[in-house]
Parts: sequence; structure tokens; C-alpha cells
Amino acid sequence: MNAKKELELYIEELRTLVKKRGLKNSAQREQILQVLFLAKEHLTPEEIHQRVKKLNPSIGLATVYRTLSFLEKEHLVNSISFGNESKKYELNRGEHHDHMICLECGKILEFYDEELERLQEAIAQKASFKLLTHELILYGICPKCQSK
Ligand SMILES: [Zn+2]
Ligand SMILES: [Zn+2]
Repeated sequence: MNAKKELELYIEELRTLVKKRGLKNSAQREQILQVLFLAKEHLTPEEIHQRVKKLNPSIGLATVYRTLSFLEKEHLVNSISFGNESKKYELNRGEHHDHMICLECGKILEFYDEELERLQEAIAQKASFKLLTHELILYGICPKCQSK
């Protein structure tokens, strides 16, 4: 599928959801989704704001924050928390993954490990805990920063 077609599908999904919630369509919401779709990395609300301003110069940071929390609540985007720093966001592309964060440069690496996924399910099951979702973040120093 080409990128344009893929973006249209995300926008379509958003419109359906907005309608279901009885909200009005907003170009701003779609522009923010587009920025996240095009991003190769995880972005802070400020970075998203910088990028979305190129599509819509009048959009404010407060709108970006509000829209991100809406999109996250609706599972269209995911966020990663950085201690007391701000969150970073990424589009939910439907493929679960976990993260490693470098404490020196802030770089985020993604990983997926089937065995680890299974292990978490087994741990929950043993505790009669109904697992719905999980977030796993490994904090450390990336190879580049180690070699400094
Ligand atoms: Zn680093
Ligand atoms: Zn990620």
C-alpha cells in the first residue's frame, strides 16, 4: 500500500470515530494525525506543534495537547512517559512493540520479543490477573553514547 493511501485510511478511521463520539470534524485533528503518520521517530507535543504549524500556522500548543490526549484515549496514538519530562507520541500502527530509552541522548529504540510477550502473559495468568495491555521501557545508555 502506498503512503498516501495508508494515510487516507488513518484519516478515515479518525473520521468514523469522531462521528461515533458525536464530535465535529476538525482539520486540526487530522493535521496532527498526519504529522504523526509522517514521523519516523517519537515526538514531544512541542515537536508535533512545530511540524503541524507548517500545515496550519494558527494552531496553538494547547490544541495540540488536547488533541493528543483525545487521540491517545481513542488508541489512535501511543505515548511514552519520560520521568518528569514530557511525553513522546507515536502513531498506533497496530504492531505492538516496547522501547529502550537512552538516558544520555534521549534516543528511543524499539524492540519486540515474542518470548518476553509470552512471559508477561504467563506471569499475569499465574496471578489470575486479566492482562489487557502493557508498556515496557528499558532505560540505559545507547551504543553511540557508550563509545563517547
Ligand atoms: Zn544515547
Ligand atoms: Zn515506538
